[in-house]
Amino acid sequence: MVLFNTYRFSKEIPTKPTKELPALPDSALSHLRAAIRIPTIGFGDGLPVDTLQFNAFWQLMEHLYPLVHQRLTHQSFNALSRLYHWPGKHPEQKPYVLMAHFDVVPVEAATAKQWTVAPFGGELKNDTVYGRGVADDKSSLISILEATEKLLSQGFQPERDFYFSFGNDEETIGHGAQAIAKYMQEQKIQPEMVLDEGGEITREHFPELKRPVALIAVAEKGYMSFDLTVDQAGGHSSTPAKETAIDILSKGLVKLREKQMPYKVLPVIQEMFQRIGPGLSFAQRMAIANPWLFEKLLVGELEKDKSSNALIRTTIVPTIVQSGMKDNVIPSVAKAIVNTRILPGQTPDDVEFFIRGQVDDPRIVVTKASQPDYNGPAAALDSKGYLLVENATYQVTKDVIPVPFLSVGATDSKYFQPFSEAVIKFLPSTDSKGFHGIDERIPVSDFKRMIYFYQIILTQAGK
Ligand SMILES: [Zn+2]
Repeated sequence: MVLFNTYRFSKEIPTKPTKELPALPDSALSHLRAAIRIPTIGFGDGLPVDTLQFNAFWQLMEHLYPLVHQRLTHQSFNALSRLYHWPGKHPEQKPYVLMAHFDVVPVEAATAKQWTVAPFGGELKNDTVYGRGVADDKSSLISILEATEKLLSQGFQPERDFYFSFGNDEETIGHGAQAIAKYMQEQKIQPEMVLDEGGEITREHFPELKRPVALIAVAEKGYMSFDLTVDQAGGHSSTPAKETAIDILSKGLVKLREKQMPYKVLPVIQEMFQRIGPGLSFAQRMAIANPWLFEKLLVGELEKDKSSNALIRTTIVPTIVQSGMKDNVIPSVAKAIVNTRILPGQTPDDVEFFIRGQVDDPRIVVTKASQPDYNGPAAALDSKGYLLVENATYQVTKDVIPVPFLSVGATDSKYFQPFSEAVIKFLPSTDSKGFHGIDERIPVSDFKRMIYFYQIILTQAGK
């Protein structure tokens, strides 16, 4: 039976025809580079932003995309986010929403010197565009507008209504997208598909396949932070008690990190391995085709790498530890913030229960420190939205293997989950580099693929 199941997976993974992508107009590249030169930085939750830059960004968009701004209507939300509406030929069909954000994370002072280009210079070298925000997520916003402007110039009208939701604070608090989602819900606009960032194409994660794999995220993990607080008599450091607040908290954190929450292989991850299974080694195929082996072999493999480990369990990690003001004073309060990313199907209460059990000390008070996310069901793989994204990916990526995926990061599209049929998180960039880090960049070929990807989504969105 083991061998039979394994052979069943030995057949080749099918390929589909690819479109010859037309040349990229020079103007598209200069538009992307101009967008990067405006530093629309989100400094952190609750911290003020330079609204002049955010407004300048919209002025630039209005200048670069005149037809979009003549033919589509738009409304502002949260002052700096925008929702565009492009009416289709058949208003009775449920709309599609394309999402992107144009805020970017700051360039850390400690890493600024390690950049090989000016982070906000919008430089082009070796057929690659560099700059903070080029991968996350301005290339997506610009690609949507490039595709739309081009189609408008050809007199095109989509079959169904499209909305473009462009958030101004995804990297911090997501109020813009939240306000847009609330408005759409109030207006009873029920999207059949919402498409946002999340997964991308990878060659690096499955080198043995020798083919690109498109990780089309159909669900995302929830987000919740917890406060761990110890309140204990302090005093002078010359006469320390046996245990201080810092001691108690430190021991609790060590115990918390000693054990992980139990793994769970979600149906979406099982399906992902089913679809790439035929291209893997015989041992890996054997594991996938035989569920009892799967757990022993595959979970063991997945746990070795931090990225794949995050796909099979809720992760818990301290991110802030605070205590003490003066070197000769024992502080009475020690506090840690622990950030958790919750697997769909588990709740913040489940995680809180686990944290309490692990720290196992009533002197450490555990409380929730953020609002719970809506952690909804995965988009169906036979939904129109998923099939359209999959089909568009085939057309713009030679030899690609599209698979469903779980996004481990939080995106703005979570606010659309409660009232949308299929929320999909995917961009056809390839192993993009420097995400929130140094030398953020995308190859010109990826930018070109993104524009034609959106063009296909817009033109093939009929019934
Ligand atoms: Zn992003």
